[in-house]
Order: sequence, then C-alpha cells, then structure tokens
Amino acid sequence: MRDVIVIEKNEFGREASWAAGGILAPQVEADAADDFFYLARASRDMYPEFAKALLAGKLRSILNSIAPAPCMWRSLPKRRMNFESRFDWQRSEGLAVEWLTGDEARALEPALAQDVRCALRFADDWQVESRQVVAACLATNEKFGVELIDHCEVSRVQVTDGNVLGVEAANGFIGSPSVVIAAGAWSSILDPVASLRIEPVRGQMLCFKSQPGFARHVIYSSRGYLIPRRDGRLNRWNRPANALALTNK
Ligand SMILES: Cc1cc2nc3c(=O)[nH]c(=O)nc-3n(C[C@H](O)[C@H](O)[C@H](O)COP(=O)(O)OP(=O)(O)OC[C@H]3O[C@@H](n4cnc5c(N)ncnc54)[C@H](O)[C@@H]3O)c2cc1C
Repeated sequence: MRDVIVIEKNEFGREASWAAGGILAPQVEADAADDFFYLARASRDMYPEFAKALLAGKLRSILNSIAPAPCMWRSLPKRRMNFESRFDWQRSEGLAVEWLTGDEARALEPALAQDVRCALRFADDWQVESRQVVAACLATNEKFGVELIDHCEVSRVQVTDGNVLGVEAANGFIGSPSVVIAAGAWSSILDPVASLRIEPVRGQMLCFKSQPGFARHVIYSSRGYLIPRRDGRLNRWNRPANALALTNK
C-alpha cells in the first residue's frame, strides 16, 4: 500500500461520487438475470465486507451513515404488468423480493400517495451515503500510508513498447510500472490505447430539507426516485425529461 499514489486533478471525491445517490440496487433496476445483473449483484453483496474494512479502527463515526435503507418501487395501475414480470423472475432466481398492496406499502411508508396500488420491496438492495464513503476511503488511505496528491491533473499515461512507464502530471513525471485509470467520466481521455469507451450520462439531483424519518426506503417510480438521508435531507433524482419540466416551473 505504501507504494501507491492517488492523483486527483481537483479535490478528492467531488465529482460523480459527491453527487451520487449511493443506491446499490441491482434488483430494482434489472429487467432480466443477465451477466450485467450478476456482476452488479456480486458487487452489491461484497459491499458489507468493504464497509466493515472501512470502519476498522478510528473510522467508527462513519458507521451510522452507511447502514442500509432498503428499496421500494411503487406503482400506479398501468405499470402493474412490468411489476409482475420483475417479481416473477426475481422469485424464480431465489432473490429477496416482496409484493406489497398499496395499504401494506403505506404501512411501511406513510407518506406514499393514496393512488399507489402496489409496490415491490427489495430488502437486499440498499443505499449508502456516498460522501461518507468517500471520506472513509480517504481516511483509510491516509491510515495505510497511501500518498494522496490533489490539485494535480494527469495529462497522459506514458507507454513505450506496450509497457507503462508512469504518468505525466501537472507537477512532473511520476514513474510507475502499473497505472490504474480511475478518472470516472474522463477515463477515456487518459486511456493510452483507447480501449475504453466511457461516456457521461446526464441526470439531475435535487436536495430538499425534510424531517429525519420522513421515509425509510429509497422509493422508485417511473419518473425518478427519492433517497432519504439520516440527517433529514431528501434527494430526488429525476429522469432528464422531468428535470426539464421542473426547471420550467
Ligand atoms: C446525479 C448522480 C446520481 C448517481 N446515483 C448513483 C447511485 O445511486 N448508485 C450508483 O451506483 N451510482 C450512481 N451514480 C454513478 C456514480 O456516482 C458513479 O458511477 C461513481 O461515483 C463513479 O466513481 P468514479 O470514482 O469512477 O468517478 P468520479 O467520482 O467522477 O471520480 C473521478 C475523479 O477523477 C478525477 N479526474 C478526472 N480526470 C483527471 C485527470 N486527468 N487527472 C487527475 N484526476 C482526474 C476527477 O476530478 C474525479 O474526482 C450517480 C451519478 C450521478 C452524477
């Protein structure tokens, strides 16, 4: 670990990882059990161990912030068909999924509207406070002696005869036989062999002040989702078309 250097062009964790909802929800979002679903599910299932590793030692204060909030998808009548097929394939895969009537859903989430007819509850899909996870990752890196360099842009990865030599950074050349490109939406720009095709996807996140406990689940609908935070913040992610409609209002 002491031979690792992490280089950031601005401040650590202030791009997508700062904006993210932190939802770890392969089941809510999957239409079928394909390879991508199995990858996402395996990743989600590794998260509790990862969180435990982050919580080791002096990072206990983060503990309360990464407790799970399960996910729920509410439905109005015309969406019921999608619900039935999602419920069926997940049941046949042995996944945790519950069918709730509107009243059962409102018993768990009293703020749900009266016209919600049914909901699916995914007890194993959950959510983390991504800003706290970033803080925990940084603290863990510091604890293990990883060198963290911020405000330093990497302009290119230097490769000669197929071998990585290091990176050209704002403060000069940094030599290394291994380079991991973890530049999020910008990763393709740095990829020396152009093997990556990473493209940004636009969404819009709104943040409201609410009462702690207003909602206990991440609540999905066809128009976006609501993410309750323990301190009372309520995030709403909109699909782009609705985001535009909201802006116009
Ligand atoms: C609004 C929104 C909501 C989302 N919600 C969810 C969700 O609920 N669940 C989920 O799983 N995912 C969600 N995502 C996606 C998730 O946030 C990203 O997939 C994840 O944060 C990507 O992490 P990353 O470290 O790859 O990228 P980033 O967090 O963007 O980090 C990349 C870093 O690389 C740095 N960098 C870029 N170029 C260079 C360079 N040349 N030199 C040095 N540093 C450089 C950047 O400054 C940045 O800090 C959401 C994304 C958004 C925008």
